[in-house]
Amino acid sequence: MSLLSIASNASAWRGYEYYEEKKILSWKQTGPYEFEGEVAGSDKKPYHVTIDTEHPKKSTCDCPHAEGKRIICKHKVALFFTVFPKEADAYMAEIEEYEREEEKREQEHYEQIVKYVKRLSKEELRVALINALVEAEERDRLR
Ligand SMILES: [Zn+2]
Repeated sequence: MSLLSIASNASAWRGYEYYEEKKILSWKQTGPYEFEGEVAGSDKKPYHVTIDTEHPKKSTCDCPHAEGKRIICKHKVALFFTVFPKEADAYMAEIEEYEREEEKREQEHYEQIVKYVKRLSKEELRVALINALVEAEERDRLR
């Protein structure tokens, strides 16, 4: 199991941003699967982060979010991407692929709506439009 696969989507994304912004101040390898580093955080003092790529849950970070817990925080992800830039590229490629698919799904959905509307009679169109306007108004009121 990779460190990335047990990180939440938010931690993975924020970690990627930290990696891109070069927030890892220094790092070194401390064992066959172990690395440690200093990561600039919101606090003045950098966070001390260790990652274990063989046993990701043994990774540590002294930020308030992850300290004493087995959570994969953005600092661990940022260190992971800094040590393995190819993993960062693969992660980004995956995000871009997802976005392309999402765009395709939206396009297909749009085409379905167009097809549906084209099949409606004038009377059905009137009813559908009235319902849509009423629903839109109700949605606005709920905001
Ligand atoms: Zn952290």
